[in-house]
Amino acid sequence: MADGGYRIGIGYDIHPLVEGRKLILGGVGIEYHKGLDGHSDADVLAHALGDALLGAANLGDLGQYFPETEEWRDVSGLILLKEISKLISRAGYEVVNVDSIVNAENPRLAAYRLQMARNMAGALEIDSARISIKFTRGEGMGAVGTGQAMEARVIALLSNFNITG
Ligand SMILES: [Zn+2]
Repeated sequence: MADGGYRIGIGYDIHPLVEGRKLILGGVGIEYHKGLDGHSDADVLAHALGDALLGAANLGDLGQYFPETEEWRDVSGLILLKEISKLISRAGYEVVNVDSIVNAENPRLAAYRLQMARNMAGALEIDSARISIKFTRGEGMGAVGTGQAMEARVIALLSNFNITG
């Protein structure tokens, strides 16, 4: 197969939105009275991106590498991306591009888009222009629309020209 050097992956994550937690998305601390709850920093965007990268390289999923142990308590999503970046480059992969959607009712996030892309690109050691981040809302419906959770969906394309099959 002539185009065997490209691999695509999908990632999805959801965390509950609660009082008493910091809100961190794409490695950016966001001013808000609630934050995402989880064993780690609960950065849904970084987690979905990590899962998409692992998926594209067929290296399993986030939970496999970063279980809910003391070692990974409160760990930054950017640290996870750095670790995943090492895993995929060891397997011969480079990031071509990433597209993502963050589904969050409040607060408005567009002002943070560039910083999120820069932070995650920094962790992956790629140009931030390769990371697209889009925002949408739940329009009052479901767990996101009623402010109980935030979700992220990511697709990532990797290249590996060592792959011939
Ligand atoms: Zn997560």
